[in-house]
Amino acid sequence: MLNVFLTTDVELWCDGWRDIDAKFPDAFRRYIYGPTPTGEVGLRYQAALLREHGLTGVFFVEALFSGRFGLEPLSEIVGLVREQGHEVQLHLHTEWVDEWLVPPMAEVERKRQFMRNWTFEQQQILISEGRARLEKVGSGTVNCHRAGSFGFNADTLRALARCGIAFDASYDACHGARESGVAPGRWLTDVCSESGVVEFPMTVYRTGTGRLRHAQIGACSSSEIEGLLWSALEAGQRSFVVLTHNFELLNAAKDRADDVAVARFRRLCAFLSRHRDCFRVRGFNDPALPAPGPQPEPLRSPLWKTAWRNCEQVYRRRYA
Ligand SMILES: [Zn+2]
Repeated sequence: MLNVFLTTDVELWCDGWRDIDAKFPDAFRRYIYGPTPTGEVGLRYQAALLREHGLTGVFFVEALFSGRFGLEPLSEIVGLVREQGHEVQLHLHTEWVDEWLVPPMAEVERKRQFMRNWTFEQQQILISEGRARLEKVGSGTVNCHRAGSFGFNADTLRALARCGIAFDASYDACHGARESGVAPGRWLTDVCSESGVVEFPMTVYRTGTGRLRHAQIGACSSSEIEGLLWSALEAGQRSFVVLTHNFELLNAAKDRADDVAVARFRRLCAFLSRHRDCFRVRGFNDPALPAPGPQPEPLRSPLWKTAWRNCEQVYRRRYA
């Protein structure tokens, strides 16, 4: 049995940092609900689809935007996740901090995009603030964190441990791993112990052309993800972490559905539901999480699947 974590990073952006108060209501509607001429494909749609298939999703909800726009919109997001029975965990995009109406600490006058741009003490404040805000609006127990844009470092892990958060999911061998300074000279590919917390790295694989890629709905074809799930099961891997976003089933302009991404998401739900004897889709609040262990080589995906995905990408660019 392979433990699968279907993780959705939930966040919204106001198309730059000018006039964000005026832009916020529309940005919230587009990013969170994802209305399109053919129906919603945002957070509510994704959470309902998972539930229809009997799957528990993990939603890393970005909490720091609420320092500007208040707890009400954060509460609405958490409600959409919780009413479908899924798990809320902590996501922090620190580029929001200098936009707060009442700064959470001194020295926030400039924009700092990544967690690793803050000191150990500051990171503790951001983690505590974010978690307190989620819990205040009914998230339930928060015990896992993912840094915005995977921009964490070893201080982040130590700060999480200090704050009593046992799990982290910020390590991505394709994005920010080298800059993090965590585990230099090797790739983390499965559950491991790092700097006082248990790390669940993003699942990565080598494509047919040898490049390292992570398992993301918007970036991998269905046959790639399904093939990788079978390979990971066969190899005895202990965890498989898939990434998506609340807005990932939308086109770039956020006004129409990305039909290819919607089809992938639906097919993955059906696949995991059909093969629940092999894949256990779960959250971090479940008991008996897999234990840290050895780090296997990244999975591999054959060349024809890479070629097929490239065809899909061309189609999406033209028609989405
Ligand atoms: Zn994010």
